[in-house]
Amino acid sequence: MSGFAVADAMLALDIVSDTFGKLFSRFHWTSLLAATVIAYGAWLWQRRREPEETDASFLRFLFPRKVWLHRSALLDYRFVLFDKVALGVLVGGIALLFGKDIGKAVKGGATAFENATDSNLWVAVAYTVALLLTEDFFRYWAHRIMHWSPFLWQFHKVHHSAEVLVPVSQLRTHPVNGLINLTRSVIAIPLVTGVFVLLFPGELTVLTILGINAGRFVFDILGAQLRHSHVWLSWGPVLSRIVISPAQHQIHHSRAPEHFNRNFGSQFALWDWMFGTLYVPERREKLELGISPAETERLRSVAALYLQPFRDAWAVVRRSRAERAKKRYRTPELSA
Ligand SMILES: [Zn+2]
Ligand SMILES: [Zn+2]
Repeated sequence: MSGFAVADAMLALDIVSDTFGKLFSRFHWTSLLAATVIAYGAWLWQRRREPEETDASFLRFLFPRKVWLHRSALLDYRFVLFDKVALGVLVGGIALLFGKDIGKAVKGGATAFENATDSNLWVAVAYTVALLLTEDFFRYWAHRIMHWSPFLWQFHKVHHSAEVLVPVSQLRTHPVNGLINLTRSVIAIPLVTGVFVLLFPGELTVLTILGINAGRFVFDILGAQLRHSHVWLSWGPVLSRIVISPAQHQIHHSRAPEHFNRNFGSQFALWDWMFGTLYVPERREKLELGISPAETERLRSVAALYLQPFRDAWAVVRRSRAERAKKRYRTPELSA
């Protein structure tokens, strides 16, 4: 009996560490190292062009106190710490309850991948690229819908309420936003996989580098960490139409009206270009980040980041109901 409980607990722990491993794979040492090297290049370039505005020390340029110790960044650290502990408890709890079934499913998935090692390289390349493009396409639309829908915006605004950007700001997302992201992947991944399974039965594998999807790995070492940072880095007028630069994502976080609803892309800028939401900066822009100051004040604590969006989303529902009711009961004389 006790042996069984220990085995269950070990399995739960295994699943929790696997979940955290996946989550923090975006902070893989290779991407952090690459971000530092790229930031060094950005510092050299900026120091030459704007010497009076650029710190003479690279360390101070990379870690300015006014960014890393800003109260918005401090809230990010507290939120992420709490959020991930809560996630650990939740995943651990579910794993303890349904441990055996989840364990079987996880192990089954791993075996499926291991069996595919002798697959055709070109199929693997095509599958990896198709997966990358399709997931990013879905990511673009899910993101755009969250900005378009007043109801969903209440949850997505948690991410936008950051007034400074540090790499962990990418984890400042409301659980409802997380659920939308999950739904998006649950649709996109089986869609591509289904097509490939039909076309190339038994030959499916994803190319990985150090255990990370090869496409993701390439994006990650191309400065993905700098998207949520104060380091300005643009890919220039041509490449910025294909791949989102750190500067373009910072513009997505800008408070300026001309930057509203621009650069929804996560990895590729292609979708923004195709669907008319692309903004390519011509020069370094001074950005004020975040949402309205009044809204920011209402999202100053970890509890508020979780709860306020539910209150605001409920207010949106009540408002739209009231408007509908007003339309329904308006007499012809009154509306004339
Ligand atoms: Zn957004
Ligand atoms: Zn962001």
